[in-house]
This record gives sequence, C-alpha cells and structure tokens, in this order.
Amino acid sequence: MTGVGRRVRFAPSPTGFLHIGGVRTALFNWLFARNDGGEFCIRIENTDTGREVAEASEQILRSLDWLGLDWDGEPTFQLDNAADHEVAARMLLDSGAAYLDDGAVRLRVPDDGLTGWDDLVKGPIEVANADIEDFVLVRSDGRPTYNFAAPVDDANSGITHVIRGDDHVSNTPKQVLVLRSLGHELPAFAHVPNVLGTDGKKLSKRHGAVSIEEFRENGYLPAAMMNYLSLLGWSLDDKTTVMSREQLVGGFSLDRVGTSPATFDYEKLLWLNGVHLRELAPRAYAVALLAYLDEQGFDGDEATVRASVPLVHEKIATLGEYPAFCRFLFADPEPDSEQLADTGGVLAAAVQALEGADPFDAEQIEAALRVMCETLELKPRKAFQPVRIAITGSKVSPGLFESLELLGRQESVARIERAMALA
Ligand code: GLU
Repeated sequence: MTGVGRRVRFAPSPTGFLHIGGVRTALFNWLFARNDGGEFCIRIENTDTGREVAEASEQILRSLDWLGLDWDGEPTFQLDNAADHEVAARMLLDSGAAYLDDGAVRLRVPDDGLTGWDDLVKGPIEVANADIEDFVLVRSDGRPTYNFAAPVDDANSGITHVIRGDDHVSNTPKQVLVLRSLGHELPAFAHVPNVLGTDGKKLSKRHGAVSIEEFRENGYLPAAMMNYLSLLGWSLDDKTTVMSREQLVGGFSLDRVGTSPATFDYEKLLWLNGVHLRELAPRAYAVALLAYLDEQGFDGDEATVRASVPLVHEKIATLGEYPAFCRFLFADPEPDSEQLADTGGVLAAAVQALEGADPFDAEQIEAALRVMCETLELKPRKAFQPVRIAITGSKVSPGLFESLELLGRQESVARIERAMALA
C-alpha cells in the first residue's frame, strides 16, 4: 500500500497477562506495520482505572517490549476517550440512527439488506441485517459497549487496518454498522486464526505455559519466540521455518495468513529456541545468558559463567537449562554413592592421569584419560562415567574434558578424591 500509510493498533483488555494468542495478534499487527514503514499503536481497552488495570497494562507492555515489538506514540487508554464516545452517541441520537431505550442508547439496525466487508484473511463476509438486533451502544449507566467504543476509537485515530483474532468476526458487522452510521470510511479488516493446543482445544494452562512472561522466565529467546509466534497462522513460503526478525519484517504479508486454526506446539518452539541459541555468536550468547541469569537471581560469578559458554553453547535448548546443567561449576557436586559403586580403581587412575596432564587443558586432559583407558583396558564410555559423576554429580553434563579444564586441576582432583571415599 502506498499513499496513506498503514496504521494499526493492538487493543488488549487489561484483564491479565499477555496470552500467547494475544501476543501473536500483536505480532501480526507489528509485522504488518513495520513491513511498510507504518505505525503500530497500542490502545488499552480499559473499562475502569483500578490498580489492576495499571498492573496488567504494565505487564502487557513489558511483554511486548521484551519481544521487541516497539510501538509508536504513547499507549492510549480507551477510558480517556469517553468524551469522543459521548459525542458520537449524541450524533447518532440526533440523526435518528440511534434511539434511547430505558436509558440505554441502541443503534437502529435496518430490517433488511446485508452488512459485510471483504476480510483480508477470510474473504468476503456478509450478514443479514435481520439477524442483527438493535444493539446497545451506551449502557444506561453511561458506559459505552466494546462494539461502540472500539470502532469510534479506530476511526478517530485513523486506523487503516483492524487485525485481530477470529473470535471477533461476530462483532465486526456491528462495528461496520456503527462506522457507516457515523459516516466513516471502513478500515480494512483481517481476522487471523485462533491459536489452539495440540489437542485442538483452546490454549489454556492445562497445555503448559501460556503467558509470554513464563517463556521469558524459562529462558526462551525473544528472537525465537517471535519466530515461532509468526508461524502461528502465517508462513513465508510453506517451507522456511527459521527466520530472523529482519526476515520476518521483510517477508510478512496478510496474503499468507491462513484461515485454519493454528496449533501451538511446545516441542517445535523448544527446537526453534535451540536453533536460535546455537546461532548466536559466543559474545552475544554470553550477553543473553548473563542477562537471563541476572534476571532470575542466579548468583554464580560472572567470570565462570562467561568461561562456561563454549561448554553449553551447543548443548542446551533454553537458557533455563543452564543452572541445573552447570550447577557443578558453582557448587560442590553431591554424587550418588550407588552410581559410584566399584569405581575406586578407575577414579584413582583418573587422579594420576590428571596429575600428568600438562598443560591442564581439554586436549591434554583427553589424551591423558584415553591413555588411562588403554592401560586399564576399559572402554572410554565406561571409564569416563565415574569421573563425570565425581566432578558434576550427574551422568549428564557438558563435555567432560572441557568441564575438567574449567574446574582446574586442583578442584578436579579434590572432587575425584572425595568421590573415591564414596566408591
Ligand atoms: N479488547 C479486545 C480484545 O482484547 C480487542 C479486540 C479488537 O482488536 O478489536 O479482544
């Protein structure tokens, strides 16, 4: 579109945290705007001004900010537009398009004819006016309804495209009637598919994390999250999965938003997060990891975290796995004596091998331990396991030789000797 720039809005109700479905809708609006130098506005659809509204709004903005969905101008609050809603209601009453009924204002909906629009995702939609009741615009206590306030605000703020969830399709004929009665041009409407769990049911807590904040706490990267959310109802070309923020902005179009419900697949998101994590350059990885650990209140020292990056970079799929995976670098392990049964001989030989590795780096450590395997006539897998358990307390850990190097000779030997006492 050229000439009139795109101007879209994300209009969350401040009733709680930002849900996956909501944030996907926000993302589509943002991508659509940024794809063509348009504007992405935020309108908080509050019906009161309690502390809860302030908290929920802050949380919503924090989530959008974390994902990298920057907005234009200050977020607006629907309640601040009350005067505009009153003016619009007055106009409709004066023109006879609306009437008073027990103190409420109702729109006079024609008995015949059709109300429709050409949905940019779903195609032409038409509803018989006979099926639309004379709906309430303003309640008798003076509060406007959603179907009145939303189109008035959209028109007054010059919204060109209303992109929102499929569940709003049934509201659109009413909003079209309001806009026409007020003499406004219609924005384009695009209703994007709902997001369901893998069981085909509406996404809920039962399926796992559903708020963006939870994914953040669990160590997902904003870039991976954005990439994954973009695929919930849209595709670039039916085959490209991994995309950067720039690729998404450049490639997004409403033409490629589908009509069938999207399925939120936690495993695919986890996989994609691993891909994005591995693609980070070591320095960027360290920055992301340190920021995450700091946010989570992890109190390991920074130098050790930085030094451990090469050990974990290829191994963990979320930053949230780091604390458990690398706990042994920050605290003494607690090996399970049962797992160490009958390993005293190997551990003693490992101490000797490590004493001889010079310099004490991964390469020399590996060479020394392999010689030890030959001498003991043991398969490496069998011989290395007790060493791993001795120094990490776990059978699963980052690379053994690198871990030993990072711990240093003295600490490694001390840990193995302590394990020998348990073996
Ligand atoms: N407040 C509505 C919601 O959260 C907004 C719908 C719309 O975008 O018009 O569902």
